[in-house]
Amino acid sequence: MTRSFNFSAGPSTLPLPVLEKVQKEFLSFQGTGMSIIEISHRSNYFEEIMEQTEQLLRELMNIPNNYKVLFVQGGASLQFSMVPMNLLTSYNTSYYVNTGSWAKKAIAEAEKYGEVHVQNCPIHHIPKLSLDSISLVDYVHITTNNTIEGTKFASIPNTGNVPLVADMSSNILSEEYDVEKFGVIYAGAQKNIGPAGLCIVIVREDLVGQNTLHTLPTMLNYETYVKSNSMYNTPPTFNIYIMKLVLEWLKQLGGVQQIEKINKEKAALLYNFLDESTLFYSNVHIENRSLMNIPFNTTSSQLNEQFISEATSAGFYFLKGHRSIGGMRASLYNAMPIDGVKALVSFMKQFEMKARMSNV
Ligand SMILES: *Cc1c(COP(=O)(O)O)cnc(C)c1O
Repeated sequence: MTRSFNFSAGPSTLPLPVLEKVQKEFLSFQGTGMSIIEISHRSNYFEEIMEQTEQLLRELMNIPNNYKVLFVQGGASLQFSMVPMNLLTSYNTSYYVNTGSWAKKAIAEAEKYGEVHVQNCPIHHIPKLSLDSISLVDYVHITTNNTIEGTKFASIPNTGNVPLVADMSSNILSEEYDVEKFGVIYAGAQKNIGPAGLCIVIVREDLVGQNTLHTLPTMLNYETYVKSNSMYNTPPTFNIYIMKLVLEWLKQLGGVQQIEKINKEKAALLYNFLDESTLFYSNVHIENRSLMNIPFNTTSSQLNEQFISEATSAGFYFLKGHRSIGGMRASLYNAMPIDGVKALVSFMKQFEMKARMSNV
């Protein structure tokens, strides 16, 4: 069996040792003769997994004690609703930085619950924002990494006393962040954490239980998850188990500081080539270039199609860009080995040479 180089934006490639362990343990978890997906979430086996998963995440992200870690279903998209439902209190107003498609979806949900001030950013560039004097809003919302546009915040804006909420779906655990700068961090699992469906919410404890409206559905209230250790109902046990294995893999590798170094190296390989190339290019402002999602293009849509098709035949999967941006996109999440990026760059070089020769 050979593994392909999978550049999908999500669900995306996972570490091979994790998949192998899942396979090995699948029929009999820890010698029990039962699969992990057959075991009660209230059993000691699973409670231990849950506890260890949270501990690993706390350790890897250096999460302070006054933050709660919640395991929620509904993906990151449900947080687009849960954030306003839980955090809109004093002012019934929020402030969103619109940096692209996912931010727009978050804004559309927030507008259903209160007033939203929107700061629009250009598609390829996130200018430095001064938000430190912002007031009379319940929270500020940003998307740290824009999966579709390939941009990221060069630095996290200071919002003073106003809680900062971040959608970190596509770059959580890929570079170091100071959790204390945020009131809420949420991330869908299917990029750097594990299988789709699970969403991790990290919330400062004073922001929990603010909305006292009795119409707030139990399952959409952060307090429910805090009070029940995310076990009010059956949590997505298989996803959490795989998340634990991914975090163990990351810890063994040296943690977030180490993977950030590797991620920078990986991204630099591709960006350096794009900057040198006379065929391929990146449109993203240098200081906002994402380490995780790298859109690129040629000036010919016909060449793009040919490139994607030849790349797929050569075993480089899912390089087609998002339909709203076009061109190509390579997602280089934590689990993408550096050899995958080297192989891609060398394939692109060959393609460029061939294209030049048939042109002149
Ligand atoms: C993938 C993604 C989402 C959506 O995640 P779902 O789990 O599909 O809801 C939201 N925000 C960002 C930044 C993403 O990359």
